[in-house]
Amino acid sequence: MKPYRVLLYYCYTPIADPEGFREQHHLLCLQLNLLGRIIVAPEGLNGTVSGLTADCEAYMAAVKADPRFDSLEFKVEEQETHTFQKLHVRVKTEIVHSDLPVDPLRQTGIHLEPDAFRQLKNDPDVVLLDMRSNYEHSVGKFNGAITFDMENLRNLPDHMDEIAHLKQKKVITYCTGGIKCEKASAYLLSQGFENVYQLHGGIIKYGLEAGGEDFDGKCYVFDNRVAVAVNQVNPAVVSTCHRCGTASDRMVNCASPACNNHVALCEACGWEHHGTCTDDCLSDPQLRAYDGTGYYSKKTEGYTPWQGYKSFAGSVLKS
Ligand SMILES: [Zn+2]
Ligand SMILES: [Zn+2]
Repeated sequence: MKPYRVLLYYCYTPIADPEGFREQHHLLCLQLNLLGRIIVAPEGLNGTVSGLTADCEAYMAAVKADPRFDSLEFKVEEQETHTFQKLHVRVKTEIVHSDLPVDPLRQTGIHLEPDAFRQLKNDPDVVLLDMRSNYEHSVGKFNGAITFDMENLRNLPDHMDEIAHLKQKKVITYCTGGIKCEKASAYLLSQGFENVYQLHGGIIKYGLEAGGEDFDGKCYVFDNRVAVAVNQVNPAVVSTCHRCGTASDRMVNCASPACNNHVALCEACGWEHHGTCTDDCLSDPQLRAYDGTGYYSKKTEGYTPWQGYKSFAGSVLKS
C-alpha cells in the first residue's frame, strides 16, 4: 500500500452560498493537509486533491456527511507522494466550464457503470464520443471513438455537424472523470440525439473498476503525473514522439515556459533536445532544466496553502 491517495470527484448539486461554502471547505482541506484544485459553483463541487491516506479518508467522510453530496463518488488512486504542490479552492460560475445551455440535474444521458459500459461499447449500433480536449485524446482514447479537435467543451456546438448523422444511434459519451459528460450528454439530448449514454466516473473509474479494456494510450490528468495508465487488459501506444515520430506515450510539458505544450517525447529525444518540442523552443533563453520527467514545479518558495484562505492574516493562523 502506498502512503498517499489522489481523489477525483464531482457532484452536481445546488450550493446556495458558494462563497461561504468555499471558506469552510478550504479550512477543512487545510486541516487535513490536502493539496489540489477544488471548484465550488452554485451548481456543485468538483475537485482533485492528494493527501495522506488517513487525511483523505477523513475528507471523504466529511464530504459524505453533507446530504447535498449523497450522489458524489470518489475515484481513489494510490500514490507515493502528493501529486499537487498547491491548494486552490475557488468559486466559479460552473464546476466545469462549458457555457452550454443545459442543467444536468434536469436532464442528462443515461449513466453506465464501468461493467455495463464494457459490454455495451461492443454493440455494433454504439458510437463512442470523446468529450475531452484535443491534447487529451491525442495521448489516449477508446479504440474506435470519435474525437473532436476542440480546446474546450465550450467548442462542442461547433462540432455538431460532424456527428449529425448519428442521431438515431446509441451514443456513449466519455471523459476523464465523468463531469464533462453530465453536460455534454445533456447537450446532445437537446440537439435531438435519441439514445444518449455516458460513462459514469469516466476513464479513471473504468480503469480502476473494469480493467480499462480497449482504452488505447494513456489518460491525461491535471496534476504532476501528466498522464496515467488505464488499460491493464490490452494496452496499446497511440501517440508518437513529437521529435522523431517513434511510438511513445511519455508525456512531457515542453521545457520552454513560453511554449509549455503537452507533447509526447521519447526518452532519447527528451535528453537530446533538453525536453523541448521544437528547436525554436530549445533556443528559449528562459529554458527550464529538463530532469527526465517533463514536469516543472511551480515556484513554491514561501508558499503556504493558507494563502487562499480569507482569514489567513487574521485569527485562524494565530489560534
Ligand atoms: Zn523521439
Ligand atoms: Zn515547445
